[in-house]
Amino acid sequence: MIRSARQPLPAITVNDALAARERIRGIATRTPLRFSIPLEYQTGRNVGLKVETMQATGAFKLRGAANAILSLAPEQRDKGVVAASSGNHGRAVAFVAKKLGIPSTICLSRLVPAAKVAAIECLGAKVIVGGKDQDAAIAAAHDIATTHGLAYICPFDDPDVIAGQATIGLEIMEDCPDVDTVIVQVSGGGLAAGVAMVLKTMKPETQVVGVTMEAGAAMYHSLKAGKPVYVEEVPTLADALQGGVLLDNVYTFGMCRRFLDEIMLISEQQIAAAMRYAFRSERLILEGAGACGIALILDRRIREFGQRIVTICTGDNIDPDVFLDIVGTQHHAQEPGTLIWPASNQ
Ligand SMILES: *Cc1c(COP(=O)(O)O)cnc(C)c1O
Repeated sequence: MIRSARQPLPAITVNDALAARERIRGIATRTPLRFSIPLEYQTGRNVGLKVETMQATGAFKLRGAANAILSLAPEQRDKGVVAASSGNHGRAVAFVAKKLGIPSTICLSRLVPAAKVAAIECLGAKVIVGGKDQDAAIAAAHDIATTHGLAYICPFDDPDVIAGQATIGLEIMEDCPDVDTVIVQVSGGGLAAGVAMVLKTMKPETQVVGVTMEAGAAMYHSLKAGKPVYVEEVPTLADALQGGVLLDNVYTFGMCRRFLDEIMLISEQQIAAAMRYAFRSERLILEGAGACGIALILDRRIREFGQRIVTICTGDNIDPDVFLDIVGTQHHAQEPGTLIWPASNQ
């Protein structure tokens, strides 16, 4: 069962997010918004970190996957689900399927890091690795869905997935009602669409800024072009942000265009620096994508933001050896933040 791009487009609303919250309770965790003492010291702003790394699968994708799978008709759900993923969505789908006792098949491209492949396999999913990029993995998953009559769970362009990710927006509004700026990572845009929709509906004056890596920024270039465009996938530390926005995108492109104030890009060096910063100063382990919000807060463009900023630590699924290589690098004096916390014994 593949949702067709030609079906009429129902708007996804705050009510959908509220319904999703009830549905996913017990599978996805309500995460804390942790105020950052080091980032306040560093930037003079009040910064809240939404710690999605506390999800059982190490990333927020559990919310959308749980909502999408629990929204399937029972007889469809019981046949099993199939997904394509840059890693975290696949892990989330496999986790939910295991919880519900239904079979899952996850298609991954060769760009997906080995640690993520292993994390999915150990949940009992059938894993198929092949294809040069995310688009190839999606094509493979579509084939399997059609051939075997399984439900295909799209990682981002699905109303139930977006509503699931939007529950993060509800929690931000509850925990920090005076938020003025939200920084949200963007790949396919399910997270950004859901979170920005909730914020702009409940508190329209909030500035909602997307952030993504310079290397292969598909939504950024699509928004500039005014339509979804193909952007080549290239290796990046933010591997969870790789992949296109789907040329026949139904939901997330339009929602990002409508609800995001802008998308800002950050370099590979900034991602690495933010990972080191998060580890040294926040004691948080973040994968590259998970550190992009902090990277933007540490950037000069912080001046364009308000006084109460929230960003999302979206995931921590990184190969431990790769992580140690990155955070073990001696930091340089010019690298933001890493020298000021903890302060010397004053
Ligand atoms: C998927 C993912 C994102 C981006 O979410 P989209 O809904 O695809 O835009 C960001 N960070 C992590 C860790 C992810 O797994």
